[in-house]
Amino acid sequence: MMCAMAQRVKRAFTYRFYPTPEQAEQLARTFGCARLVYNKALEERSRAYAMEGRRVSYGESSAMLTAWKRTQELAFLGEVSSVPLQQALRHLQSAFTNFFAKRAAYPRFKSRKKCRLSAEYTRSAFTWRDGELTLAKTGVPLDIVWSRPLPEGAEPSTVTVSRDAAGRWFVSILCEDAVRPLEPADGVVGLDAGVTSLLTLSRPIPGLTDAAGKVANPRHERADRARLARAQRALARKERGSNNRAKAKVRVARVHARITDRRRDHLHKLTTSIVRENQVVAIEDLTVGNLVKNHRLARAISDASWRQVRAMLEYKARWYGRELVVVDRWFPSSKLCSACGVVASSMPLEVREWVCAACGATHDRDVNAARNILAAGLAER
Ligand SMILES: [Zn+2]
Repeated sequence: MMCAMAQRVKRAFTYRFYPTPEQAEQLARTFGCARLVYNKALEERSRAYAMEGRRVSYGESSAMLTAWKRTQELAFLGEVSSVPLQQALRHLQSAFTNFFAKRAAYPRFKSRKKCRLSAEYTRSAFTWRDGELTLAKTGVPLDIVWSRPLPEGAEPSTVTVSRDAAGRWFVSILCEDAVRPLEPADGVVGLDAGVTSLLTLSRPIPGLTDAAGKVANPRHERADRARLARAQRALARKERGSNNRAKAKVRVARVHARITDRRRDHLHKLTTSIVRENQVVAIEDLTVGNLVKNHRLARAISDASWRQVRAMLEYKARWYGRELVVVDRWFPSSKLCSACGVVASSMPLEVREWVCAACGATHDRDVNAARNILAAGLAER
């Protein structure tokens, strides 16, 4: 029996906003302080671990932070909201928890250049009233561009502010939202992570794929990539440390950010349609780590944003009452004839189309693979 109960899920909504000069200054200072607190606490914890083999708790780090604020050289930590600093310590705590559980490498220092600047505010450090969001110590409400509404009656629980390399400001608002499963669908589909196309489906879906079942990369991506290459060449010509170089750098970051944003939008539309139209979605368990060794594939895999597709399919399937089946990665999806089940002896990557020696069926490599993934997925259920 289908259960149509709505489930409560945490969902982040991200918007751009335009800070006042005072807000920009205060937030930039908060980012800097949060990074400093993270790095300093990491240093302390590393020392305790290396010298005494001792684990430092979150409570101890928090007490250290209080002590730092009382010193003359770190008194400026008291000028920003204390919550983002506490949150930085919490993030460090989970980094260590993951390290000790062998889920992650040893935590690393946050570099000014490589890390995205951000600060996290929990409920006590912002107010949300009449659709306006005000962060602690930043005066007036944020001037947010509400590109889509927050869900009706949403209560934000965490707010993360960040600025990207292109100088754009973002606010990500975490809310509880109700998600209702969709009516059951008739379709079942297998997906193959594309080499020549973004994705290939085991059957064509009008408006989503071409007649064969292939999903092309976003149309504008080729032009955007050419633009990116141009901007990168221009950057390479600029003298180190010059003002023009700084400007060229921002230009590169902007083109880059646009490509990423547009691709994510594209993937969202794509995965929503796939989940809407199909009750069962079968995918291959491709881990990027396994494929990167193959250099020709590496580029295609990163382009295809396979990891993003998979993550989106996972939560959307859960939200909307669909079944996502992940098929074993060693399964010979490309070499197996989806018509008769005979396995071809070899299938070099450059072969895009082949004829089965046993039954004479002509296969597009990717469509055949997608059909095999579907069959394996259905068998595995
Ligand atoms: Zn065959």
